Amino acid sequence: RGKWKRVARVLREVEEGCEGSVGRLRQVVDAMAVEMHAGLASEGGSKLKMLLTYVHTLPNGTEKGTYYALHLGSTDFRALRVHLHGQQSSVLEHEVEQQPIPQHLMTSTSKDLFDFIASSLKEFIEKEGNGSELSPDRRRELGFTFSFPVKQMSVSSGILIKWTKGFSIVDMVRIDVPACLQEALARKELDMRVAALVNDTVGTLALGHYHDSDTVASVIIGTGTNACYLERVDGIIKCQGLLTTSGYMVVNMEWGNFWSSHLPRTSYDIDLDSESPNPNDQGFEKMISGMYLGDIVRRVILRMLLESDILGPISSKLSMPFILRTPMMAAMHEDDSPDLREVARILKDILEIPQVPLKLRKVVVKVCDVVTRRAARLAAAGIVGILKKIGRDGSGGITGGGRRSDVKMKRTVVAVEGGLYSGYTLFREYLHEALNEILGEDIAKHVILKVTEDGSGIGAALLAASHSSYN
Ligand code: ADP
Repeated sequence: RGKWKRVARVLREVEEGCEGSVGRLRQVVDAMAVEMHAGLASEGGSKLKMLLTYVHTLPNGTEKGTYYALHLGSTDFRALRVHLHGQQSSVLEHEVEQQPIPQHLMTSTSKDLFDFIASSLKEFIEKEGNGSELSPDRRRELGFTFSFPVKQMSVSSGILIKWTKGFSIVDMVRIDVPACLQEALARKELDMRVAALVNDTVGTLALGHYHDSDTVASVIIGTGTNACYLERVDGIIKCQGLLTTSGYMVVNMEWGNFWSSHLPRTSYDIDLDSESPNPNDQGFEKMISGMYLGDIVRRVILRMLLESDILGPISSKLSMPFILRTPMMAAMHEDDSPDLREVARILKDILEIPQVPLKLRKVVVKVCDVVTRRAARLAAAGIVGILKKIGRDGSGGITGGGRRSDVKMKRTVVAVEGGLYSGYTLFREYLHEALNEILGEDIAKHVILKVTEDGSGIGAALLAASHSSYN
């Protein structure tokens, strides 16, 4: 019937629009490497900010002592205490306390937010045993993970460039973030030094490196997405005269804002972007991360039902932005019951579309598949872009010079974290598949993606240890 034809047409258009052949992915890889160069060459030279972190040595397992970390991410807020014994151990002894961030604080004032954080931290510390871990003449030291773009001046200072992920505290933009925390700690009479300001990707890299010294980059794919990696300081042209003992510095790419005309973009992406609070911003993130995938799917289903009129009048729920969250979309995608019961349930309970025929449920699963596959393949292309920039993609890099077969590919570890990667099996499988396709199996077998857990927390404590004033 005509209605089904229209459903099929919308599906076909989405499939074509999201097409990510290996050829196209390689163009994205090249574009990523080019933009990385541009972002390192001059301030504002690229949509990739390529932020300096002033972290030039990564933890290696010899760190000792008790350190703290605070993590302010997007959904929750965590306080941690990590005990380090000076020898690398596979499990790091630590305690965590986690709390949701009260919604109203996300758009309040910096004082309100940091007073809340400092109070929570104080409570956490007061629950400490007998305090015997710390000698009395030593101040407590803390790594502060702040997963928003920051322009750092040193490892322990930096100003907020802009908010992302739903936060909007206007008086904090361009303000020194660790100073805000340090002042709030003083107001609560908590004697503690903010030793390192850490982007969550950098924490993840630090933890990855602590466990495995072949770790050269890290990627986060959760509510948002971002990556960082170890760059040679002589490659950081925009900051002349930068000297570090190691010759390297971790660069926070802020890759969520990457953009290239090679990205497979659909009308749904354009609408999502223009209706978002940050249009023309975070374009890569809006095609990849958990905050958005469910909503892309919702938009496709909405268009299908509107254009085909296959179920008659549509529910008003389906028109509500972000009502279909990515974990629900994943549950539909991964529904393996023969009658797609879970798909039917979610469509009914969340989107208030009852009695969806099996044929249409199958189409919905296909839409989830198309959207997730594109996201995973783009993330893979981004990772290979980093590998290309640092000469670990098997092509010999800029200095390699030799024929492809001459190049000995080094074992290369990328630390990965985030709910989308670790919780969504099909996403992860598509990502690995694309890595293999782009790199070829001979090279891909040297590239290891390792999931770290709570790198943004534990990694920050490790960085506080390596940047301790008692070292
Ligand atoms: P955050 O990025 O908010 O700090 P996480 O890394 O845990 O925290 O990522 C959480 C996000 O990951 C969620 O917002 C959701 O979009 C996505 N996510 C978590 N679990 C799943 C899952 N099982 N399937 C799909 N997406 C998931």
